[in-house]
Amino acid sequence: DAPRALLALEGISAGYEAGLVLSDFSLEVGAGEVVTLLGANGAGKSTVLRAVSGLVPVVGGRILWQGQQIGSGKLSRVERIAHTGLGHVPEGRGIFPDLSVRENLRMGYFARGEGTGQGDDEWERVLEMFPILKERFAQRAGSLSGGQQQMLAIARALIGMPKLLMLDEPSLGLAPLVSEQVFEKLREIVAGGVSVLLVEQNAHAALELADRGYVIQRGRVAISGTADELRADSRLSESYLAVH
Ligand code: ATP
Repeated sequence: DAPRALLALEGISAGYEAGLVLSDFSLEVGAGEVVTLLGANGAGKSTVLRAVSGLVPVVGGRILWQGQQIGSGKLSRVERIAHTGLGHVPEGRGIFPDLSVRENLRMGYFARGEGTGQGDDEWERVLEMFPILKERFAQRAGSLSGGQQQMLAIARALIGMPKLLMLDEPSLGLAPLVSEQVFEKLREIVAGGVSVLLVEQNAHAALELADRGYVIQRGRVAISGTADELRADSRLSESYLAVH
């Protein structure tokens, strides 16, 4: 038997009231795989992640999680995150600036289901992984640097013990050195066995981390392949790799 994909989008159509953004869009992430989704601004990358999280309705095709169909409306967003092992770090990080670092992290813990005791070990493990957050525990999240806020958003998702972590432009707005630190952390997370679906504007950095990638154009897959194939693809070097 072929190994079953952790996540499979099969010809999905999805979008907003104003109109469909994705049409007949397909993508797979295998267990333990790092997959990157590249494309121009407005191509629909964030919409793909939102469709998986249940934040935008899927009106055609289907999404399979570990072989089981998840449909919009069947599982609420919170349930997906809590019970299915799906972590979503949205663009702009989605942290609560007026809450402390600790309170922000607790949101991830609640999402997993407080009282189950399931998150207790994870809480300690994640704090060890991000010593800077431990140091700033009581500080307002909004007073952290951009890189630290991104680390906080990733740490919060990890406390929910995801099997798959979806990241939307984690390096956006960060200085190159800080962006490199974020990618270093992602490498650690991947080494720990978490699968990743990464939306990135920095195609070079993304393809260094990824096993495979897809290029999305106007809501459809335009190019897909292994990271090596994509790096060597002249269509990519013209449109994406050259500019960064
Ligand atoms: P970017 O890198 O700019 O975030 P993206 O590839 O992630 O681009 P999406 O954010 O998925 O693109 O947006 C795809 C299309 O959907 C764009 O035309 C955008 O204007 C539109 N869109 C995004 N969010 C909404 C929304 N909340 N309501 C209506 N249209 C939206």
